[in-house]
Amino acid sequence: MANQTPLDVRVSYDALGRHLDDAFAAKAGRATLALLVVRIHNLRRINATFGHEVGRQILAELGERLHTVARAYDQVHLIGDDEYALILPDLTDGGHAELAASKVVRTVAEPFCINETLHKIAISIGIDTCRDGEIDPARLLQRAELALATAENRKLPYALYEDVTALATAVDWDVEAELADALESGALQMYYQPQLDIAGNYICGVEALMRWRHPTRGLLTPTLFIPAAERSGLIDQLTWAALNMTLQHAGEWPLMPSPLRVSVNLSATLLSNPELVTQVANAVRIWQLPPQQLVLEITETALVRDVDESYAMLKRLQDMRINISIDDFGTGYASFAYFRNLPVREIKIDLCFVSHMFDNEADRHIVESILTLAQKFHLHVVAEGVADGRTLDALGNMGCNAAQGYFIAEPMPLDAFCEFLKLHRKGWRRPA
Ligand code: C2E
Ligand code: CA
Ligand code: CA
Repeated sequence: MANQTPLDVRVSYDALGRHLDDAFAAKAGRATLALLVVRIHNLRRINATFGHEVGRQILAELGERLHTVARAYDQVHLIGDDEYALILPDLTDGGHAELAASKVVRTVAEPFCINETLHKIAISIGIDTCRDGEIDPARLLQRAELALATAENRKLPYALYEDVTALATAVDWDVEAELADALESGALQMYYQPQLDIAGNYICGVEALMRWRHPTRGLLTPTLFIPAAERSGLIDQLTWAALNMTLQHAGEWPLMPSPLRVSVNLSATLLSNPELVTQVANAVRIWQLPPQQLVLEITETALVRDVDESYAMLKRLQDMRINISIDDFGTGYASFAYFRNLPVREIKIDLCFVSHMFDNEADRHIVESILTLAQKFHLHVVAEGVADGRTLDALGNMGCNAAQGYFIAEPMPLDAFCEFLKLHRKGWRRPA
């Protein structure tokens, strides 16, 4: 392989630029070069839990696995604490970069065995490509990093810079200013994704998910604007808007044989906002939703940030008979011990475990053990990201209470959701 730096030596961005130039010079005469930036999300967590030596060995083994994907003229370089660059200089077209990315994803799906302990790593990949003669290493790297940020935000295994431009997270976009306008103009809308009671085969709940109907950039998902809302302090207003819109719409949903539980997402920052309880109490009163039908979803990481403060807030909500659900369960630091004393009624198993249940044994074990423990604590469990019938059936057999995911339905606007409810009023009709 051309011009490799040893894998335990981190190369500077300047050096990477030179490697990119060399890669073009040495390539086999084809037209496209791709840069893949591969980042491990959970390396910091592994370092914190198992020690930096384990983290270092995992990083080194990832480098070796990337080499197994690489071909003769390809290069692998360590460029950050948890980041590698993979240079693929002789592709016949950009589509081959995606093939390489999916190969990388497959090679890391196998757990990493360090000191007889199995570790599972989570990666995302950002990709940019360029053609011979157009190479600008700094730009290529910046665009691959932007694609990586998009992949991470959207929980995708990889993203191409082309997708990013389509989604417009580009640097020249003043999200915060436009978001303030969007709140005023009603461009923020709620979409609804149903939840299925697995044993009873009926629609038992719904999660409200926000969308931004942007005048020029299309329908934007919240991972593209929630971080900006949190930075700018707009998140509070955005949440009150989401809560009120959802509860208002709940009055328009067709009546179902059993009342739907309505889940609304709360951002981490709100747990320390003294207005939270009043805002929720007002919304429930104005829109006349029985409080026991409301579920507030809080991520695991938000909850453990300040356990005492969270406890006080959650206790007040519980006194109002409002339910608390722990979102993205399994991805953060919380264990069941944390909320043994917290007023939590429900957990949602993160889709990263559910969606790989069949191709990854470790994920299946995680799902199984979460379910076993949750049952002991009498918690309602919702599995997220249920994308096929096989996963749904397996979850049912494991005693999981409810499922949410594309197999049941994608998030949809109010009208479509009302139609969905009518269609499934007498029980959920499974897709053929
Ligand atoms: P989340 O709460 O974990 O929501 C689940 C996400 O998974 C949703 O993405 C949903 O569309 C997606 N999803 C559902 N089923 C499937 C499936 O079968 N496969 C896959 N691959 N994905 C599936 P969405 O709507 O883009 O929301 C992303 C995140 O944005 C949410 O993650 C939540 O953390 C946040 N969010 C959404 N709406 C709000 C809101 O009103 N307020 C706040 N604070 N955050 C929100
Ligand atoms: Ca959620
Ligand atoms: Ca979630």
